[in-house]
Amino acid sequence: MTDMVQGRESLVRLLEGILAMPGVTVYAPVAEGDGAAFGRIGSASEALLDCSGVVRPPRQILAPMTEILLTVEPDGSTVDRVPAPEPMILFGARPCDSRAIAFLDRVYAGGDRIDPYYAARREALTIVSIGCREPRATCFCTSTGGGPLSREGSDILLEPSGEGWIVRVITDKGASLAGRAGLESPDERVPDPAVSPMAGEPRDLAVLRERLEKAFDDPRWEALTAKCLGCGACTFICPSCHCFDIVDGEEDGRIVRSRIWDSCQFKTFTRQASGHDPRPTGAERYRHRLMHKFSYCIESYGMPGCTGCGRCVEACPVNLDIRLLLDAFGGGK
Ligand code: SF4
Ligand code: SF4
Repeated sequence: MTDMVQGRESLVRLLEGILAMPGVTVYAPVAEGDGAAFGRIGSASEALLDCSGVVRPPRQILAPMTEILLTVEPDGSTVDRVPAPEPMILFGARPCDSRAIAFLDRVYAGGDRIDPYYAARREALTIVSIGCREPRATCFCTSTGGGPLSREGSDILLEPSGEGWIVRVITDKGASLAGRAGLESPDERVPDPAVSPMAGEPRDLAVLRERLEKAFDDPRWEALTAKCLGCGACTFICPSCHCFDIVDGEEDGRIVRSRIWDSCQFKTFTRQASGHDPRPTGAERYRHRLMHKFSYCIESYGMPGCTGCGRCVEACPVNLDIRLLLDAFGGGK
Protein backbone atom coordinates (compact mmCIF):
# COMPACT_ATOMS: atom_id res chain seq x y z
CA MET A 1 0.00 0.00 0.00
CA THR A 2 1.22 3.49 -0.72
CA ASP A 3 -0.02 6.92 0.38
CA MET A 4 1.86 8.74 -2.34
CA VAL A 5 1.76 8.58 -6.13
CA GLN A 6 5.37 9.35 -6.97
CA GLY A 7 5.47 11.19 -10.26
CA ARG A 8 3.73 10.91 -13.61
CA GLU A 9 4.86 7.36 -14.45
CA SER A 10 3.32 6.13 -11.19
CA LEU A 11 0.11 8.00 -12.05
CA VAL A 12 -0.05 6.23 -15.41
CA ARG A 13 0.62 2.88 -13.70
CA LEU A 14 -2.19 3.60 -11.23
CA LEU A 15 -4.58 4.28 -14.10
CA GLU A 16 -3.43 1.12 -15.89
CA GLY A 17 -4.15 -0.86 -12.72
CA ILE A 18 -7.65 0.61 -12.53
CA LEU A 19 -8.27 -0.14 -16.22
CA ALA A 20 -7.27 -3.76 -15.56
CA MET A 21 -9.97 -4.18 -12.89
CA PRO A 22 -12.66 -6.49 -14.28
CA GLY A 23 -16.10 -5.10 -15.11
CA VAL A 24 -15.14 -1.44 -14.69
CA THR A 25 -15.76 1.35 -17.21
CA VAL A 26 -13.22 4.17 -16.92
CA TYR A 27 -13.74 7.79 -18.00
CA ALA A 28 -10.93 10.36 -18.20
CA PRO A 29 -10.10 13.56 -20.07
CA VAL A 30 -9.49 12.71 -23.74
CA ALA A 31 -8.76 14.78 -26.84
CA GLU A 32 -11.84 15.97 -28.70
CA GLY A 33 -11.40 18.21 -31.73
CA ASP A 34 -9.27 21.17 -30.66
CA GLY A 35 -10.17 20.64 -27.01
CA ALA A 36 -10.85 17.88 -24.52
CA ALA A 37 -13.83 16.08 -23.05
CA PHE A 38 -14.44 13.32 -20.54
CA GLY A 39 -14.67 10.11 -22.51
CA ARG A 40 -14.50 6.37 -22.02
CA ILE A 41 -10.94 5.07 -22.26
CA GLY A 42 -9.49 1.63 -22.94
CA SER A 43 -5.85 2.46 -22.24
CA ALA A 44 -3.97 4.95 -20.09
CA SER A 45 -2.31 6.47 -23.16
CA GLU A 46 -5.68 7.93 -24.21
CA ALA A 47 -6.00 9.98 -21.02
CA LEU A 48 -4.89 13.63 -20.91
CA LEU A 49 -3.73 13.52 -17.32
CA ASP A 50 -2.11 16.97 -17.33
CA CYS A 51 -5.12 18.71 -18.83
CA SER A 52 -7.00 21.12 -16.57
CA GLY A 53 -8.94 22.79 -19.39
CA VAL A 54 -11.43 20.06 -20.25
CA VAL A 55 -14.01 21.73 -22.43
CA ARG A 56 -16.94 19.38 -21.98
CA PRO A 57 -17.72 18.70 -18.31
CA PRO A 58 -18.35 15.24 -16.82
CA ARG A 59 -22.05 15.82 -16.08
CA GLN A 60 -22.95 14.01 -19.32
CA ILE A 61 -21.76 10.76 -17.71
CA LEU A 62 -24.51 11.11 -15.11
CA ALA A 63 -27.12 13.14 -17.01
CA PRO A 64 -26.65 12.63 -20.76
CA MET A 65 -27.52 15.41 -23.18
CA THR A 66 -30.36 13.24 -24.49
CA GLU A 67 -31.73 10.11 -22.91
CA ILE A 68 -34.80 7.96 -23.37
CA LEU A 69 -36.79 7.83 -20.14
CA LEU A 70 -39.52 5.42 -21.19
CA THR A 71 -41.27 3.93 -24.18
CA VAL A 72 -44.92 3.04 -24.71
CA GLU A 73 -45.01 -0.10 -26.82
CA PRO A 74 -47.62 -0.76 -29.57
CA ASP A 75 -49.58 -3.01 -27.15
CA GLY A 76 -49.89 -0.09 -24.70
CA SER A 77 -47.39 -1.39 -22.14
CA THR A 78 -44.88 1.07 -20.70
CA VAL A 79 -41.20 0.19 -20.45
CA ASP A 80 -39.15 2.29 -18.04
CA ARG A 81 -35.57 2.85 -19.23
CA VAL A 82 -33.85 3.37 -15.86
CA PRO A 83 -30.21 2.38 -16.52
CA ALA A 84 -28.39 -0.41 -14.67
CA PRO A 85 -24.78 0.58 -15.32
CA GLU A 86 -21.67 -1.45 -14.56
CA PRO A 87 -19.27 0.16 -12.05
CA MET A 88 -17.75 3.36 -13.52
CA ILE A 89 -14.66 5.30 -12.47
CA LEU A 90 -14.10 8.93 -13.38
CA PHE A 91 -10.33 9.40 -13.26
CA GLY A 92 -8.70 12.81 -13.43
CA ALA A 93 -11.66 15.07 -12.72
CA ARG A 94 -10.60 18.45 -11.37
CA PRO A 95 -11.92 19.50 -7.93
CA CYS A 96 -14.34 22.05 -9.46
CA ASP A 97 -15.98 19.33 -11.55
CA SER A 98 -16.20 16.88 -8.65
CA ARG A 99 -17.74 19.65 -6.56
CA ALA A 100 -20.22 20.26 -9.38
CA ILE A 101 -21.22 16.59 -9.12
CA ALA A 102 -21.71 17.06 -5.36
CA PHE A 103 -24.05 19.91 -6.32
CA LEU A 104 -25.91 17.80 -8.90
CA ASP A 105 -26.33 15.12 -6.21
CA ARG A 106 -28.34 17.64 -4.20
CA VAL A 107 -30.44 18.64 -7.21
CA TYR A 108 -31.25 15.18 -8.56
CA ALA A 109 -31.04 13.03 -5.47
CA GLY A 110 -30.92 15.22 -2.37
CA GLY A 111 -34.59 15.77 -1.60
CA ASP A 112 -37.80 13.80 -1.25
CA ARG A 113 -37.92 13.07 -4.96
CA ILE A 114 -35.01 11.09 -6.32
CA ASP A 115 -34.33 11.07 -10.06
CA PRO A 116 -33.85 7.31 -10.63
CA TYR A 117 -31.97 7.76 -13.93
CA TYR A 118 -29.34 10.02 -12.34
CA ALA A 119 -29.24 8.06 -9.08
CA ALA A 120 -28.55 4.72 -10.80
CA ARG A 121 -25.54 6.13 -12.62
CA ARG A 122 -24.31 8.05 -9.59
CA GLU A 123 -24.43 4.96 -7.41
CA ALA A 124 -22.21 3.17 -9.94
CA LEU A 125 -19.67 6.02 -10.20
CA THR A 126 -16.47 6.45 -8.18
CA ILE A 127 -14.56 9.70 -8.64
CA VAL A 128 -10.77 10.01 -8.48
CA SER A 129 -9.91 13.70 -8.71
CA ILE A 130 -6.55 15.32 -9.34
CA GLY A 131 -5.95 18.59 -7.51
CA CYS A 132 -4.72 21.59 -9.48
CA ARG A 133 -1.18 22.91 -9.14
CA GLU A 134 -1.72 26.01 -11.29
CA PRO A 135 -5.19 27.46 -11.81
CA ARG A 136 -6.03 28.71 -15.29
CA ALA A 137 -6.52 32.46 -15.81
CA THR A 138 -10.28 31.91 -16.02
CA CYS A 139 -10.59 29.79 -12.84
CA PHE A 140 -12.32 31.25 -9.78
CA CYS A 141 -13.21 28.16 -7.73
CA THR A 142 -11.92 29.76 -4.51
CA SER A 143 -14.50 32.56 -4.96
CA THR A 144 -17.35 30.03 -4.99
CA GLY A 145 -16.51 28.21 -1.75
CA GLY A 146 -14.27 25.56 -3.31
CA GLY A 147 -10.61 25.57 -4.24
CA PRO A 148 -7.94 23.81 -6.29
CA LEU A 149 -7.68 21.13 -3.55
CA SER A 150 -11.39 20.94 -2.66
CA ARG A 151 -12.45 17.40 -1.67
CA GLU A 152 -16.20 17.85 -2.09
CA GLY A 153 -17.64 15.26 -4.48
CA SER A 154 -14.42 13.28 -4.79
CA ASP A 155 -14.08 9.72 -3.49
CA ILE A 156 -10.31 9.95 -3.74
CA LEU A 157 -8.33 13.16 -4.21
CA LEU A 158 -4.77 13.06 -5.51
CA GLU A 159 -3.33 16.16 -3.90
CA PRO A 160 -0.29 17.63 -5.68
CA SER A 161 2.91 17.51 -3.67
CA GLY A 162 6.29 18.08 -5.27
CA GLU A 163 6.44 15.96 -8.42
CA GLY A 164 3.78 13.58 -7.13
CA TRP A 165 0.42 13.39 -5.38
CA ILE A 166 -0.63 12.59 -1.81
CA VAL A 167 -3.52 10.10 -1.72
CA ARG A 168 -6.58 11.41 0.13
CA VAL A 169 -9.22 8.73 0.54
CA ILE A 170 -12.47 10.56 1.28
CA THR A 171 -15.44 8.18 1.11
CA ASP A 172 -16.24 4.49 1.58
CA LYS A 173 -16.39 4.12 -2.18
CA GLY A 174 -12.95 5.68 -2.35
CA ALA A 175 -11.67 3.29 0.36
CA SER A 176 -12.96 0.31 -1.59
CA LEU A 177 -11.21 1.45 -4.79
CA ALA A 178 -8.07 2.45 -2.88
CA GLY A 179 -7.87 -1.03 -1.34
CA ARG A 180 -8.00 -2.67 -4.76
CA ALA A 181 -5.50 -0.18 -6.23
CA GLY A 182 -3.00 -0.51 -3.36
CA LEU A 183 -3.56 3.03 -2.07
CA GLU A 184 -4.13 4.41 1.41
CA SER A 185 -4.42 7.86 2.99
CA PRO A 186 -1.55 9.14 5.09
CA ASP A 187 -2.31 10.24 8.62
CA GLU A 188 -4.16 13.57 8.27
CA ARG A 189 -2.00 15.02 11.04
CA VAL A 190 1.00 14.88 8.72
CA PRO A 191 1.33 18.46 7.52
CA ASP A 192 0.63 18.89 3.83
CA PRO A 193 3.81 19.76 1.96
CA ALA A 194 1.61 21.26 -0.76
CA VAL A 195 0.74 24.88 -0.36
CA SER A 196 -2.85 25.21 -1.47
CA PRO A 197 -3.11 27.44 -4.52
CA MET A 198 -6.04 29.82 -4.84
CA ALA A 199 -8.14 30.61 -7.88
CA GLY A 200 -9.86 33.94 -7.34
CA GLU A 201 -10.30 35.75 -4.04
CA PRO A 202 -12.49 34.02 -1.43
CA ARG A 203 -15.96 35.56 -1.25
CA ASP A 204 -18.48 35.65 1.56
CA LEU A 205 -21.31 33.88 -0.25
CA ALA A 206 -23.96 35.10 2.20
CA VAL A 207 -22.94 38.71 1.53
CA LEU A 208 -22.81 38.07 -2.22
CA ARG A 209 -26.29 36.61 -2.15
CA GLU A 210 -27.68 39.54 -0.19
CA ARG A 211 -26.13 42.06 -2.59
CA LEU A 212 -27.41 40.23 -5.67
CA GLU A 213 -30.93 40.17 -4.26
CA LYS A 214 -30.76 43.90 -3.55
CA ALA A 215 -29.54 44.48 -7.13
CA PHE A 216 -32.49 42.66 -8.70
CA ASP A 217 -34.01 45.88 -10.10
CA ASP A 218 -30.70 47.58 -10.81
CA PRO A 219 -31.01 49.35 -14.20
CA ARG A 220 -27.44 48.34 -15.12
CA TRP A 221 -28.48 44.74 -15.94
CA GLU A 222 -29.65 45.89 -19.38
CA ALA A 223 -26.41 47.59 -20.40
CA LEU A 224 -24.05 45.05 -18.83
CA THR A 225 -25.67 42.06 -20.54
CA ALA A 226 -26.66 43.76 -23.83
CA LYS A 227 -24.11 41.81 -25.88
CA CYS A 228 -25.45 38.41 -24.83
CA LEU A 229 -26.59 36.48 -27.91
CA GLY A 230 -28.74 33.99 -26.01
CA CYS A 231 -26.78 31.15 -27.61
CA GLY A 232 -26.80 29.00 -24.46
CA ALA A 233 -23.12 28.00 -24.80
CA CYS A 234 -22.47 29.07 -21.20
CA THR A 235 -25.15 26.70 -19.90
CA PHE A 236 -24.37 23.69 -22.09
CA ILE A 237 -20.68 23.88 -21.14
CA CYS A 238 -21.42 24.28 -17.42
CA PRO A 239 -20.72 21.30 -15.11
CA SER A 240 -23.57 22.21 -12.76
CA CYS A 241 -26.36 23.48 -15.05
CA HIS A 242 -29.13 20.93 -15.09
CA CYS A 243 -32.25 22.28 -16.85
CA PHE A 244 -33.93 19.87 -19.24
CA ASP A 245 -37.02 19.49 -21.38
CA ILE A 246 -39.15 16.38 -21.84
CA VAL A 247 -40.26 15.54 -25.38
CA ASP A 248 -42.44 12.78 -26.75
CA GLY A 249 -41.91 11.32 -30.21
CA GLU A 250 -42.71 8.23 -32.21
CA GLU A 251 -40.25 5.62 -33.41
CA ASP A 252 -41.11 2.29 -35.08
CA GLY A 253 -44.67 2.41 -33.77
CA ARG A 254 -43.60 3.15 -30.18
CA ILE A 255 -44.01 6.38 -28.23
CA VAL A 256 -40.59 7.49 -26.99
CA ARG A 257 -40.32 9.93 -24.09
CA SER A 258 -36.90 11.60 -23.94
CA ARG A 259 -35.15 14.13 -21.77
CA ILE A 260 -32.92 16.70 -23.47
CA TRP A 261 -30.78 19.47 -22.02
CA ASP A 262 -32.35 22.92 -22.16
CA SER A 263 -31.00 26.40 -21.43
CA CYS A 264 -32.43 29.30 -19.46
CA GLN A 265 -30.66 31.56 -21.95
CA PHE A 266 -32.90 30.45 -24.82
CA LYS A 267 -35.70 32.84 -25.78
CA THR A 268 -38.38 30.16 -25.54
CA PHE A 269 -37.27 28.71 -22.21
CA THR A 270 -40.00 30.29 -20.10
CA ARG A 271 -42.52 31.19 -22.80
CA GLN A 272 -45.90 29.83 -21.82
CA ALA A 273 -48.61 28.32 -24.02
CA SER A 274 -50.55 31.60 -23.83
CA GLY A 275 -47.57 33.41 -25.38
CA HIS A 276 -46.75 35.19 -22.10
CA ASP A 277 -43.07 35.12 -21.17
CA PRO A 278 -42.09 36.08 -17.62
CA ARG A 279 -38.47 36.65 -18.77
CA PRO A 280 -38.83 38.19 -22.23
CA THR A 281 -35.50 40.06 -22.45
CA GLY A 282 -31.91 38.89 -22.59
CA ALA A 283 -31.09 40.97 -19.52
CA GLU A 284 -33.80 39.21 -17.49
CA ARG A 285 -32.59 35.82 -18.67
CA TYR A 286 -28.97 36.59 -17.79
CA ARG A 287 -30.02 38.03 -14.42
CA HIS A 288 -31.94 34.83 -13.75
CA ARG A 289 -28.86 32.72 -14.48
CA LEU A 290 -26.73 34.71 -12.04
CA MET A 291 -29.44 34.87 -9.38
CA HIS A 292 -30.15 31.16 -9.74
CA LYS A 293 -26.53 30.17 -9.31
CA PHE A 294 -25.65 32.52 -6.44
CA SER A 295 -28.94 33.02 -4.63
CA TYR A 296 -31.67 30.47 -5.36
CA CYS A 297 -29.32 27.46 -5.42
CA ILE A 298 -27.77 28.48 -2.09
CA GLU A 299 -31.29 28.77 -0.66
CA SER A 300 -32.45 25.43 -2.08
CA TYR A 301 -29.30 23.30 -1.94
CA GLY A 302 -26.99 25.00 0.53
CA MET A 303 -24.29 25.71 -2.05
CA PRO A 304 -23.95 27.85 -5.17
CA GLY A 305 -24.74 26.39 -8.57
CA CYS A 306 -21.38 27.55 -9.86
CA THR A 307 -18.03 26.02 -8.97
CA GLY A 308 -15.93 28.64 -10.71
CA CYS A 309 -14.56 26.33 -13.39
CA GLY A 310 -14.34 29.25 -15.81
CA ARG A 311 -15.70 27.31 -18.81
CA CYS A 312 -18.41 29.85 -19.55
CA VAL A 313 -15.81 32.62 -19.48
CA GLU A 314 -13.84 30.79 -22.16
CA ALA A 315 -16.83 29.64 -24.21
CA CYS A 316 -18.85 32.85 -24.51
CA PRO A 317 -18.58 34.09 -28.11
CA VAL A 318 -18.96 37.73 -27.02
CA ASN A 319 -16.72 37.55 -23.93
CA LEU A 320 -19.44 38.15 -21.37
CA ASP A 321 -17.51 37.30 -18.22
CA ILE A 322 -19.60 36.06 -15.28
CA ARG A 323 -16.91 37.32 -12.87
CA LEU A 324 -17.41 40.91 -14.01
CA LEU A 325 -21.16 40.62 -13.47
CA LEU A 326 -20.55 39.18 -10.01
CA ASP A 327 -18.27 42.13 -9.22
CA ALA A 328 -20.79 44.63 -10.62
CA PHE A 329 -23.79 43.34 -8.67
CA GLY A 330 -22.17 41.38 -5.86
CA GLY A 331 -19.67 44.08 -4.99
CA GLY A 332 -16.32 43.42 -3.32
CA LYS A 333 -15.48 40.50 -1.11
S1 SF4 B 1 -22.41 32.09 -23.92
FE1 SF4 B 1 -22.38 34.34 -23.78
S2 SF4 B 1 -23.67 35.03 -25.52
FE2 SF4 B 1 -24.12 32.85 -25.21
S3 SF4 B 1 -25.93 32.86 -23.83
FE3 SF4 B 1 -24.11 32.69 -22.52
S4 SF4 B 1 -23.60 34.82 -21.92
FE4 SF4 B 1 -25.01 34.92 -23.71
S1 SF4 C 1 -21.36 29.20 -14.31
FE1 SF4 C 1 -19.49 29.21 -15.58
S2 SF4 C 1 -17.79 29.23 -14.08
FE2 SF4 C 1 -19.67 28.63 -12.96
S3 SF4 C 1 -19.62 26.37 -12.97
FE3 SF4 C 1 -20.89 27.05 -14.74
S4 SF4 C 1 -19.43 27.15 -16.50
FE4 SF4 C 1 -18.20 27.04 -14.59
